[in-house]
Amino acid sequence: MIPIKTFIFDPIDSKALKYAREKLDVVDWTNKEIKNYANAEAVIIRTFQMTKETIDKMPHLKIIAKHGIGLDNIDLKYAKSKGIKVTNTPQANINSVAELVISLTLNCARKVNFSHNIVKAGVGKNSPFELTGFELQNKTVGLIGLGQIGTLVGKKLKAAFNMTVLVYDPYTTETICKTEGFIKCEHLDDVLKESHVVSVSVPLTKDTENLISARELSIMNKNAILINTSRGKVINEKDLYNALQQNKLFGAALDVFAEEPISKDHSLLSCNNFIGTPHNGANTKEALIRMGTESVDEIVTLMNN
Ligand code: NAD
Repeated sequence: MIPIKTFIFDPIDSKALKYAREKLDVVDWTNKEIKNYANAEAVIIRTFQMTKETIDKMPHLKIIAKHGIGLDNIDLKYAKSKGIKVTNTPQANINSVAELVISLTLNCARKVNFSHNIVKAGVGKNSPFELTGFELQNKTVGLIGLGQIGTLVGKKLKAAFNMTVLVYDPYTTETICKTEGFIKCEHLDDVLKESHVVSVSVPLTKDTENLISARELSIMNKNAILINTSRGKVINEKDLYNALQQNKLFGAALDVFAEEPISKDHSLLSCNNFIGTPHNGANTKEALIRMGTESVDEIVTLMNN
């Protein structure tokens, strides 16, 4: 065990906690000592806010190990100015997010949630075609963003359903797409027009905010589905609501929303052809173990160097 005082402020998986206790001198979130963090030399955080004020209360801090990807709860500039290392676990949850995309895609294509609600209400089949879905086999998926998650989604849908994979990502190359057997498109509109499934996996930037709005939705095939597991503001939710209401799309599923947690009165939740999940992409046992153990490993690596 490395004698580095490590405060784990947010709950992590029990296996990862056991691993942390084997490797490090741990004070975890269940311990009364957690509030007396002045002697912290390392911290593992999920949502805990590492503001300037909090960092100032930890004069011996050497490393902030983020359990997950997003670093928005850390004052990065201030941490850097103090010589504190900041790490994250960028690979740990990508497979889980990609699997959620597949799950939401199948769920939308076969109207699983709507069917469940019909069964639950004791209605049986309302009309012969109300629950009719479509097969993914040999169809086309359009990936908006070909990073870690987009690539996995494309590979899985190609392998499982022989889907043609179109890509819109101005920062990827023809060669990368060819290696995967994907087709790179120069224009977003070409991907939107041709795809039966559109899956969005981009960061939220000035360029991607409202990337999919009324104009883009109107270009999509009315028998297509839209999946977004990236960041809520990439899709214009009002425009998506209008498109779903007017049956301009077959369906849509969002794991992320402009404002989270999503309100139970959100207009999208009134659409039968819509599925919402509460930013649940990384929430698997496997991803939680990986995020926890990789955070511990970052601290161990720092101390061994
Ligand atoms: P990544 O950085 O590996 O890939 C993002 C890709 O988007 C890159 O290839 C980049 O070139 C591309 N891109 C950037 N701007 C673009 C634009 N204007 N148009 C098209 N493509 C563009 O990221 P990733 O690990 O694949 O993650 C993708 C998104 O998923 C991120 O927003 C991340 O925050 C989110 N995410 C969500 C969850 C969840 O729980 N739902 C979990 C992890 C990540």
